[in-house]
Amino acid sequence: MSNLVLLIKVMQMTEDERKVLKGKMEELIPALAKEIEDLKELTQPIAPENAIGRISRMDAINNRSVKLAALRKAEIRLHALKDALSNVDKPDFGICIRCNSSIPIGRLLLRPQSKSCVNCAH
Ligand SMILES: [Zn+2]
Repeated sequence: MSNLVLLIKVMQMTEDERKVLKGKMEELIPALAKEIEDLKELTQPIAPENAIGRISRMDAINNRSVKLAALRKAEIRLHALKDALSNVDKPDFGICIRCNSSIPIGRLLLRPQSKSCVNCAH
């Protein structure tokens, strides 16, 4: 066994931690999917000016672009979460892709889609 594999084995999260993390993902994914559905509803095309007035229309356009940005972010996050869920049972899950150290379980619970530790994230 190479030193790296040994190192990963030593620092791996426990099976209990993995279970908790998996549960967290399974809880976050449908919640986020729902949020995306809601945002899609809220970002429908805006009624013409003569129907709602110029000022409300400008407000609506501003609101819509904020919500569109949120929608895009949520979609990226959902994709990353699903990806994380499909990888959570792999032995190298939770290992920082940059420095190979294990990502603290606290960070993974907050952001299960994290692929790097806090030090490497910025
Ligand atoms: Zn790292």
